[in-house]
Amino acid sequence: MPVQLDETDVAILKSLMEDGRKSFRAISREIKISTPTVKARYERLVNMGLIKSVKPEIDLSKVDKKSKEDLGGTLESLKKQKKHFHVYVEGLNVKLKCEFCGGPIHGKPKVLKFANFERFFCCTQCRASYRDKHAGRIEMLKEQHRKR
Ligand SMILES: [Zn+2]
Repeated sequence: MPVQLDETDVAILKSLMEDGRKSFRAISREIKISTPTVKARYERLVNMGLIKSVKPEIDLSKVDKKSKEDLGGTLESLKKQKKHFHVYVEGLNVKLKCEFCGGPIHGKPKVLKFANFERFFCCTQCRASYRDKHAGRIEMLKEQHRKR
């Protein structure tokens, strides 16, 4: 059954998709909604099954060879996953807005990924324009990300 999300839910999801490690307070500041509301909405999203899981981030360089073998496939899948939160929006009635033109995104959004950010667009033209317009900032964020 499709779930109808309001603007607050979408704002929280988008914020978490950018960086799943954000605290409720950080999200609250970002989207200008009180921390208890963010927390309540987050819990609701978890209960709805929209936010499936919160996973640990493991620094593989600190795990010895034996443990790595014991953990096997679990570690492999964790390595591929860079975020703590996995946000699933597919098949849901989520109204995303294009980051460039502000128009509604119909169907699958065009995604621009850089560093640990994701931006969503209605079309490849908007994605290309956004990339050109914010080229400097995107490069800077990529650079910061590499240094971490
Ligand atoms: Zn657009």
